[in-house]
Amino acid sequence: MKSEKIVKAGDGSLVVPDFPIIPYIEGDGTGPDIWAATRIVIDGAVQTVYGGKRKIDWLELLVGEKGFDKTGEWLSDQALNTIKDHVVAIKGPLTTPVGKGIRSLNVTIRQKLDLFACIRPVKYIDPVPSPMKSPEKIDMVVFRENTEDVYAGIEYEAESDASRKIAAFLKESMGADIPEGSGIGIKPMSARNSKRLVASAISHAILNHLPSVTLMHKGNIMKFTEGAFRTWGYEVAREKFAGQTITEEELFEKYNGKRPEGKVVIKDRIADMLFQQVLLRPDEFSVIATPNLNGDYISDALAAQVGGLGMAPGANIGDTCAVFEATHGTAPKYAGLDKVNPTSLILSGAMMLDYMGWKEAATAIRSALQQTVKAGIVTYDLARQIEGAREVRCSEFGRAVLANMKKAG
Ligand code: NAP
Repeated sequence: MKSEKIVKAGDGSLVVPDFPIIPYIEGDGTGPDIWAATRIVIDGAVQTVYGGKRKIDWLELLVGEKGFDKTGEWLSDQALNTIKDHVVAIKGPLTTPVGKGIRSLNVTIRQKLDLFACIRPVKYIDPVPSPMKSPEKIDMVVFRENTEDVYAGIEYEAESDASRKIAAFLKESMGADIPEGSGIGIKPMSARNSKRLVASAISHAILNHLPSVTLMHKGNIMKFTEGAFRTWGYEVAREKFAGQTITEEELFEKYNGKRPEGKVVIKDRIADMLFQQVLLRPDEFSVIATPNLNGDYISDALAAQVGGLGMAPGANIGDTCAVFEATHGTAPKYAGLDKVNPTSLILSGAMMLDYMGWKEAATAIRSALQQTVKAGIVTYDLARQIEGAREVRCSEFGRAVLANMKKAG
């Protein structure tokens, strides 16, 4: 069979051929190790579940250190266009080249491809050690805005001409008093970008029959950015999902606190309070929609609640394409040692299969991985925390997941 590209239909839905071409970026540092383990698991799941009727044709993109060594470019326009053109891609972690005039390849990919939603599901895998008393109550998905807020990166150094000009302008025209010698950062947040992020979080909740979407913000202090995010969030729920959502206020006023079947409850929480509540009452939260910086903090904190970043998958999704990725960095001290935990990228691969509509293969990966960890076959990071566990290499872990999948299939 001939391999073909995945395409987006006019209504935004995906058209996925049985033999799709999917670009991948191996990543730097430990990237090649975790990618190799992930690839055999994804290919194994597709083969086990669909028995040769479906198969992914992988297309390597040279990005990061490998790209620089072979082509002289860290991230070429050609690589970005290939992702756009193929709609779905997956990547390992990339080094941020220090002092080479590049902010972060990861951030650049998200911004250039307008991947406006960073999606991080957080769910406990038994018996991974967790600081929580009842980690099995944690089952949340964070939708973090990916293009503005502090990610817009508008900053002016203290004592620079630019920061002096801005401070003078703010003082003269707006009466704002900026202390002498301040660095200045600008935090833009727009109705359009906030609304499309919240809309994708609500769509996810509706599609997956989830009970609530919580708007996380710091609107008590920053009224026209964080506070506006909250306002725009409620607005888009009313404008686009009136029949499928109710507010928390309505839940108590009209429904006596009992959620009507099929309705998603839209609520909001101030960021600091939400950090407390996800620890004390995690089962009250399902989908969290948040601006960039809050989302950065809460996604890693939630990952820690279920065993750390090595276990947390992620995706960056926009209107035109989606890039699935490990949430941790390159862990350079373990590069080439075949040692680190590939779970984050493997579960990101499962998210990718879900996104493509190959849900049976995604489910096969999740249950085989759960079974492998439950049997105490784990990489060093978990072995040092689980008594009696058998420590295996990164590649062995991938093969163990594959073997469990074959047994089940
Ligand atoms: P990191 O690469 O995430 O590693 C920090 C520590 O986390 C590691 O030393 C290790 O802890 C643990 N860890 C990370 N991945 C693991 C895995 N798969 N299995 C087990 N343990 C894992 O963070 P960093 O050292 O701050 O960043 C290194 C580079 O990665 C930087 O260039 C940074 O810019 C880049 N980065 C890239 C991404 C991305 O591509 N999305 C994200 C973050 C950072 P122990 O030492 O305790 O074993």
